[in-house]
Amino acid sequence: MTERIFNFSAGPAVLPVPVLEEAQRDMLSLPGVGMSVMEISHRSKTFDEIIARAESGLRELMGIPSNYHILFLQGGASLQFSMVPMNFLPSEGSADYVLTGSWGKKALKEAKKVGGVNVAATMADGGFTRVPSREEMSLNPHAAYVHMTSNETIEGVQWKREPNVGNVPLVSDASSDILSRAIDVNKYAIIYAGAQKNMGPSGVTLVILREDLLQHIPENLPTMLDYRIHVENKSLYNTPNTWGIYILSLVCKWLQEKGGLAGMERENEQKAQLIYDAIDATDFYRGHADVDCRSTMNVTFRLPAEELEKKFVAEATAQGLDGLKGHRSVGGIRASIYNAFPRAGCEALVSFMKDFERRNG
Ligand SMILES: *Cc1c(COP(=O)(O)O)cnc(C)c1O
Repeated sequence: MTERIFNFSAGPAVLPVPVLEEAQRDMLSLPGVGMSVMEISHRSKTFDEIIARAESGLRELMGIPSNYHILFLQGGASLQFSMVPMNFLPSEGSADYVLTGSWGKKALKEAKKVGGVNVAATMADGGFTRVPSREEMSLNPHAAYVHMTSNETIEGVQWKREPNVGNVPLVSDASSDILSRAIDVNKYAIIYAGAQKNMGPSGVTLVILREDLLQHIPENLPTMLDYRIHVENKSLYNTPNTWGIYILSLVCKWLQEKGGLAGMERENEQKAQLIYDAIDATDFYRGHADVDCRSTMNVTFRLPAEELEKKFVAEATAQGLDGLKGHRSVGGIRASIYNAFPRAGCEALVSFMKDFERRNG
């Protein structure tokens, strides 16, 4: 096998080696099937079992109650920016959006095309470095829903607990921290996430949807944009991303074998802390997010000058630490360290950081 490097990419991102190995082993023929997963019908018994395993794996890991539907859709989290308001924002109504970074802004932009929106809070002024306090949010008690982004992937800002939104349905874009920690699904009406950060390859979008919401969906939506259709057809109205769902099912199995989300959460916190400690130890590195909302998944920081940041990325890449360049909109460095990212990679980054500062500080 050729050697794997440390992949800090924000997404598509690193996958667990045992998952890749199993997929590789069964690539030519799933055991007892004689064909690969990419070559079988999505209506076959074999695929039925795969999608059922993906669903039951998620239900067990996240403790998803039976009054929530689990959907495997396409179009990425970006299509959910439109589907959520098309299904749940009545033309006369209004939805609350809490903006803690770039993805929330994109979700808002799409909602505005559908109906009324209220920006309940925006952290743009501070450069998206934290989440708002309860007092900073002007929530509308009659809102159709409140939309939040549980982890802003670009800025590295994460909600550590859900905002209290009363009885208004809470919708969360959890694309970059789903399955990274235990959460109480009952606090949410909808959780959606593209798979390519923490669950599998790109091309599958997970939607967890509370049953009672279905009754609010208007008639005559385009079929593929109507959650009801996907619920009725168990995500098989059209051909889903069979390969992606298969990999997702293997990722769930890997997480279950690791002991579930509580253990994963502890590991993620420890991994992130290694890097944050290195940032906090010196003035050379400056963390982007406030300490109490910094992300365990995307660690964002700056160096004293852009030239140094370029040099940092180039030298790190040469040493097998790949994908550390920050998003073009915020610059700096971003270390994405999802579930499958090994602790050894965090340790390697920390020692590189210390060495780089010694030579350039
Ligand atoms: C990556 C990301 C998206 C966009 O996902 P796509 O699947 O590419 O549409 C949306 N929201 C968050 C928080 C993300 O990290």
